[in-house]
Amino acid sequence: MIARMQVRTNSEAITLRDSYNRPIRDLRVSLTDRCNFRCFYCLPHGEPPIAPKEQMLSYEEIEYVCEIFVSLGIEKLRLTGGEPMLRRDIETIIRKLSKLRPALQDLALTTNGYFLPERARGLKEAGLDRVTISLDSLKKDTFKRMTGVDVLEKVLAGIAAAKEAGLEPIKINAVIVRGHNEDEVADFAAFAREHDVKMRFIEFMPLDSGHEWDRKDVFSGKEMHERISERFPLVKVDVARGSETSSRYRFADGAPGEIGIIAPVTEPFCGACSRIRLTADGQIRTCLFSTVEHSLRDVVRSGASREEIIDYIHSVIMKKEPRHFINDPGFVAPSRTMSFIGG
Ligand code: SAM
Repeated sequence: MIARMQVRTNSEAITLRDSYNRPIRDLRVSLTDRCNFRCFYCLPHGEPPIAPKEQMLSYEEIEYVCEIFVSLGIEKLRLTGGEPMLRRDIETIIRKLSKLRPALQDLALTTNGYFLPERARGLKEAGLDRVTISLDSLKKDTFKRMTGVDVLEKVLAGIAAAKEAGLEPIKINAVIVRGHNEDEVADFAAFAREHDVKMRFIEFMPLDSGHEWDRKDVFSGKEMHERISERFPLVKVDVARGSETSSRYRFADGAPGEIGIIAPVTEPFCGACSRIRLTADGQIRTCLFSTVEHSLRDVVRSGASREEIIDYIHSVIMKKEPRHFINDPGFVAPSRTMSFIGG
């Protein structure tokens, strides 16, 4: 019950806080472990055996626990995976979750964009606010080499469809890996200007299923910034960074679009982390790099009351790690990869 005291009520909002007094406002919910891409930095050797369906949270269970999380102060929900659009009829869960407004302020989806050309409009109609789309190269061959699939045109059409449907602001995620796509960083910035999107450059993290991550392959946030500034001078966006993962920049010449640099390896931002994750099989993860998980699914399925579930969530949040340990000598990568954790 001590943990319960961490729910602090002021005149405006309830806030869930961890033991380091960080407010927890952002929940990422993985809808499936399956993916139709084979990005070499995530799932290079294909999918490991997928857990049986009974172990996955049902839409009813996801709706139930998300309602509880939102009642505890979660303001942002991001649906992810695997590839979340591989889960059947995600419009249904979006419709259910969008009823959690106004306490829920932001309902977003991270996707590889493959299914967006046909479905972006339906997602918007179901109540989705916005999408983040992964795009690692603007070159057909590099895209295929990095993702394992030859579908660049389809993803570009997906971005256009998302824009058309009003799933904005659109963010584009590019993982930059030395020797693969660092030559395209400035071209991506040009893409952001041309299409008025928020480009997010992400450092390569040790979350690949092949466990082949090597520090020398990390193209640092600093190097990304230099590459872009050589072609397009940048100005820091003048907002408090808060819990945002990225350092944000606009173009000095006033062009549309925005740049965000996410540098968890070379410039960790754990002190302001407001995120927790729920895997497709119902495990709470308090850090991308956690080596332990907490089965919310088992608690819910054991017939626990709402109060007991709330107590459990509090007790788990109090265990949130102070920081990740990527840069420590004894670092051990989590056994689950990004596709299972929910990026
Ligand atoms: N399938 C969706 C997609 O492609 O966006 C959602 C899941 S994916 C795991 C979420 C994000 O994690 C993607 O932007 C992906 O590029 C990123 N990601 C995966 N493995 C990563 C790694 N080892 N380092 C950095 N980012 C990674």
